[in-house]
Formats: sequence, structure tokens, C-alpha cells
Amino acid sequence: MSHYDVAVIGAGAAGLAAGLSLQTSGRSFVVLEARDRTGGRAYTDTATLGLPFDCGAHWLHAAAQNPFTRIADGLGARYDDNTSWEDWTLYAAGGPALAPVVEEARNYIGEVLARIETAGTAGGDVAFSDLMEPGHRWNPLLRLLIGQITSHDPKDCSTLDSARYEDEGGDFPVEDGFGTLVKRHAESLGVRLSTPVSHVDWSGPEVKLTTARGTLTARAIILAVPVNVLIAGLIRFTPGLPHALTQALHDCPMGVSEKLAMLLDRPVAGIEHLHGDVVDLSDAARQPFNLYVNPFGRPLLVSHLAGSHGREMEKLSDPEIMAVALDALTEAFGAGIRKRIVRTLRTHWASDPFTLGGYSHAKPGRAASRLLFSQPVADKIVLAGEHCSIPFFSTVHGAHFSGIDAAKKALRLLNGLPASSSR
Ligand SMILES: Cc1cc2nc3c(=O)[nH]c(=O)nc-3n(C[C@H](O)[C@H](O)[C@H](O)COP(=O)(O)OP(=O)(O)OC[C@H]3O[C@@H](n4cnc5c(N)ncnc54)[C@H](O)[C@@H]3O)c2cc1C
Repeated sequence: MSHYDVAVIGAGAAGLAAGLSLQTSGRSFVVLEARDRTGGRAYTDTATLGLPFDCGAHWLHAAAQNPFTRIADGLGARYDDNTSWEDWTLYAAGGPALAPVVEEARNYIGEVLARIETAGTAGGDVAFSDLMEPGHRWNPLLRLLIGQITSHDPKDCSTLDSARYEDEGGDFPVEDGFGTLVKRHAESLGVRLSTPVSHVDWSGPEVKLTTARGTLTARAIILAVPVNVLIAGLIRFTPGLPHALTQALHDCPMGVSEKLAMLLDRPVAGIEHLHGDVVDLSDAARQPFNLYVNPFGRPLLVSHLAGSHGREMEKLSDPEIMAVALDALTEAFGAGIRKRIVRTLRTHWASDPFTLGGYSHAKPGRAASRLLFSQPVADKIVLAGEHCSIPFFSTVHGAHFSGIDAAKKALRLLNGLPASSSR
């Protein structure tokens, strides 16, 4: 069959949710995925380290509002609901830093995050960096943390976009992997894998798609690919996407978010699981190194590398990045740790042509641009993906909600009704 009511492009959390919603609609549809697997940025690698490792999404953020918490419960997938910001610590000079140092860093970070929230809630659309104290000794650490949250540097993040993000709390890591969970919940859905779409021709009454496996037509399409893939022009549109939408995509780009995982011969002693950062207390300007130690009691160290620093690190060769990591690990645990690394895994989302980055955040002054993603183009093209969610952008659940919303809109358009927007 080469004609459908709806074609979904991309089978990440958004495209999968759209496909699952369409399953019960009675309409014909197809889900086209470029890779040989589903899940997109939610992907659990089990082969490389011999244990489940989430290359992308790992945490059920906003756990109480997150549909994947209930989906996990339904599928019997375990998650850790006992993690907290209180677990976070600093390593310096061969061990955990003293409590007053940790407290001082925590207070500064907490104060700036509160200022960001206050500014955004009051309607201010300024850069996070405007609310940091110039030259403060904990700025490098704060930049690292903001990088993990947003995948950008503080100067590139809008306070208003951030204030619109909703999170009632709870960050629960999934034991067998969030990627595995996303894949499992959509197992009933047929997805056409290894079928990248290269051209979308919406000049006629129907949309014509050119894929690596031939052409097909659809009355409406759901475009569920990452925003940076659209910005990079890796899918050609005839005619081009409207100028206002193209500008909005550029206003809400994805930054960089990568992981380096190091499998040890045994877990780090004396720690159940811990989040921390390795800092050099004698040199405030030195780049801190993030660490997630013994997740689920496993013999694993995971470092998150994000923002412009993450971009530089992603480009390093394997020996170069390991030299940086080993310096930091020696600082935290002593030189003995060097010989205990059995295997490593690193991600390259930023150079992966089907992702090209971490997750979206609006630039300062541009928060309104995200609102445009909820408007279909010419009653034929509906956008989906984490970037389309106002309250939950940059997350798996945001992508999931956007997919459900996009399917509803596409069905309304097929019925000749205006596509009303939800979340
Ligand atoms: C390192 C990292 C850590 C993260 N941690 C978390 C976390 O802990 N919790 C959380 O909630 N979120 C996290 N995220 C963010 C989360 O993974 C994403 O927000 C979410 O998975 C995005 O889903 P999506 O469907 O919008 O996009 P994607 O998952 O990127 O899916 C898009 C799909 O489109 C496909 N595609 C691309 N081009 C084409 C084409 N031309 N033709 C056909 N298909 C195409 C891609 O292959 C992909 O499968 C993290 C992301 C990263 C990178």
C-alpha cells in the first residue's frame, strides 16, 4: 500500500505515541523510522557494557505527572523512587568534599535557579546568565548543571521558556532502562524501520513522501523528527516550510547532551548510588566533571557532558576523552581507579544525523516561538516531538503528549474540522 490517511515521520516517543493513538482511529496510517530501531533518544544499550545503559533518557522526570510512571507500573518495570537532590555531593582532592563546601555550592545554585524561576514567572524572557553573579566561584559548576537540564549554556536559555516547564517533582531512574520501557510500551505498533524520509512534497492536495524505500502519499503527515534535523535541512520540503515556522525552529534549538559510561571491575566502595561533580577547589575556573556513581548498585560511573563543553568533549577522540575522565576520577577516588575500568561507552547524539543534538530550549527573548509548533501547516503537516510541548519540552513524556496531541489534530483535519490545540 502506498497511500495512507496519515504518515508519521519518526518513531521516537512522539511518533510512537502518535502511532498508538491512530491505531484505534479506523484511519489508515504508517510510521516511518530512519533507524533500524524505535525509541529515538530513548534508547537502552544492553550489549556494550553487558548491562542496561540508557544512552539518552534515563529519568522519569516530573514522575507524578509522567504517564511513563504508570506505564512502567503496568508493565512491571521497576524504577527507583528514592532519589533526591540531597544525594548530590562534590568530590575534591581524593574524596567527598567537606559538608560546608557542598552546602555553599548548593546554596548558590539554589539561589540562581530561584531567580531564574522568579524572572520567568513574572514574564521576563532573559538569559539565565543574566541572573548569575559574574565571576562567582561556583559558576562553572552551575553551568554544568544547567547544561544537563537544558543541554545549553546559561547564556542561550530563556527564563520564560523555563518557567513554563511544569514539574511537580520526582526524578526516577528506570532499572532496565527508560529506552527499553519506551520500546516495550509500543510493541504492538508496526513501524517501518530503516526508512529515512528525504523529501516532503506538500505542493499538491496530498503530501508525497520520498523515502529510502520508495515513495508514498498521505492526506496528512505528523512530523515527529528532532528540531535540529529540521534546522539542518536534512529533510527537503517543497515548498519550503513557512518562514515563521523556520524562524521558530531556529529559536528553539537543541544543544548538546552526551554521556560517557565507564564499567568498573566492582562498584565504588561505600556508596549505594550517588550523584556528584568532581571540582578543583584550588582552581575555581577549572571545568568540573560530572559523575553518577554506582547506579542501581552497578559497577558503573556515568558522566554527563553538556552545553558547549559537551560539544567540545563529543568531538574528542576516545583516548583524548579518557585522559580528561581519568584526571577527574583520580581526583575523586585516587589513582587506583584507573586500572579498574573494564569497558567504556560514549554517545554521539550531536553528530548522529537522525538527532543532531540533546534537547530543545528557547533562546532568550524567543520563548513565544515554541507556541507556533502547535499550529498545523496548510491543514496537512502537524508537528510532534519534545520541542512541541510547552509544559514538558525536552523530555520523553513531553514528546509522548505531543504525539497524542498531533494524532488528534491530524484526525480532526481529516474530518474537515479545525485542529484545536491541547498540551
Ligand atoms: C543524553 C540525553 C539524556 C536525556 N535524559 C532524559 C531523561 O532522563 N528524561 C527525559 O524525560 N528525557 C531525557 N532526554 C530527552 C528525551 O530523550 C527526548 O526529549 C525525547 O526522547 C525526544 O523524543 P522525540 O520523539 O521528540 O524525538 P526522538 O526521540 O529524537 O525521535 C525522533 C525520531 O525521528 C527519527 N528520524 C530522524 N530523521 C528522520 C527521517 N529523515 N526520516 C524518518 N525518521 C527520522 C529518529 O531516528 C528518531 O527515532 C535526554 C536526551 C539525551 C540526548
